[in-house]
Amino acid sequence: MSELIKKTAAELGSLIASGEVSAVEVTQAHLDRIAAVEDRVHAFLHVGAESALAQAAAVDARRAAGDELGPLAGVPIAHKDVFTTTDMPTTAGSKILEGWRPPYDATVTRRLREAGLVILGKTNLDEFAMGSSTENSAYGPTHNPWDLTRIPGGSSGGASASVAAYEAPLSTGTDTGGSIRQPAAVTGIVGMKPTYGGSSRYGLIAFASSLDTPGPFARNVMDAALLHEAFSGHDPMDSTSIDQPVPSVVEAARQADVAGLTVGVVKEFGGDGYQPGVLARFQEAVELLESLGAKVVEVSCPSFTYALPAYYLIAPSECSSNLARFDAMRYGLRVGDDGTRSAEEVMALTRAAGFGPEVKRRIMLGTYALSSGYYDAYYGSAQKVRTLISRDFDAAFQHVDVLISPTTPTTAFPIGERADDPMAMYLADLCTIPSNLAGNAALSVPCGLADEDGLPVGLQIMAPVLGDDRCYRVGAAVERAFESRWGGPLLSKAPAL
Ligand code: GLN
Repeated sequence: MSELIKKTAAELGSLIASGEVSAVEVTQAHLDRIAAVEDRVHAFLHVGAESALAQAAAVDARRAAGDELGPLAGVPIAHKDVFTTTDMPTTAGSKILEGWRPPYDATVTRRLREAGLVILGKTNLDEFAMGSSTENSAYGPTHNPWDLTRIPGGSSGGASASVAAYEAPLSTGTDTGGSIRQPAAVTGIVGMKPTYGGSSRYGLIAFASSLDTPGPFARNVMDAALLHEAFSGHDPMDSTSIDQPVPSVVEAARQADVAGLTVGVVKEFGGDGYQPGVLARFQEAVELLESLGAKVVEVSCPSFTYALPAYYLIAPSECSSNLARFDAMRYGLRVGDDGTRSAEEVMALTRAAGFGPEVKRRIMLGTYALSSGYYDAYYGSAQKVRTLISRDFDAAFQHVDVLISPTTPTTAFPIGERADDPMAMYLADLCTIPSNLAGNAALSVPCGLADEDGLPVGLQIMAPVLGDDRCYRVGAAVERAFESRWGGPLLSKAPAL
């Protein structure tokens, strides 16, 4: 096994820029790692070895020609299969898009290419990003590198597993209700949901458009910040993209101190339903922050209790509208088009065969919630709850710089345990959903291993809208303090694959 795969993205970028190693060597080392572990992990739906080596060779050629390379040029990345890519299939984890080749690159894809990042392949996900375990993928589950019998989180489970298994130093994800932070937490890595509108949705296959947010995964906070900065920022192709200057998250990660900051512990997140080992590690993180000079106070956000039910009306409503475009005419699968059936019949047969059970459940739920007569009672009420949640955040951020909570109530659960119990699955996002509904920034960093199962626990750090830098500043401080206590990254304690 090449030692290159254990390096951080920042280290790889500087080794490549100085010419100590070539981008092709770095890419090959990761392709070799993928070949060695993929049969057990199944993080990827598609590996593009040839195109990756060609992209890497192009970076090496630019270097040889004397071009100044950016900090991530030549660094490999695993890309969630929900972003369009012209040179690789894009399935969103669904049978309905099997084999689809998009005619254009997502803005995130284009910016990865412009930064010189080498796209190794496309990662597995719950179908259309609906789920918390990657078990809803039409192409089989991904396995958690800490324990292959357990889930790697979801929906970005291929993204988290690829980074935790050293198949890639970086990956992209999307977070609609927790799909970056929850997989990061349960695989012992770093995951960030930027402020909504801070990263572009153009070319991201839509699940719930008012919530969907692309963000980075990495093995440390600085790498996540570098990737965040590489693909975020205003995009005229996305009508909800924010056109405002934002503080540098890379600078904030470098700052890495909490002295003088006030940190609020969300009172509503804890107690019944939380695993004791998760609460114990969270309590240690609180004490650590105090020891680093932060003032820690308890904050009540009463409306957060209603975030989960509000989300499960809003997200399915938006999904039922967004997924109407899969009509057997424009994309991918077409079933029963034998000349005897009407377009409507073909559409119904295609959608019946092409969508999995969770996607169908949500389309039905959303269609019902939006139907006249029920709209005000369900969708309308959920939107009001959404406003109350934003107000809870606004009130809290009058007094505190960041809010913290466990990222998830439990550690990674066994594959199969919640597969037939949607309500149990939905609980995985209890702590992450408020930040999606309010659109503010939130980061998950490792905070230790639960005593009962030895599995990773995540600390969630939430900051105001456009306060992404605060997440990185606090996250980097916590990471540095924990790593000196642990004698290295938490991930170094994972069993070897
Ligand atoms: N697990 C949540 C859901 O199933 C969130 C998914 C996501 O963030 N994409 O909707």
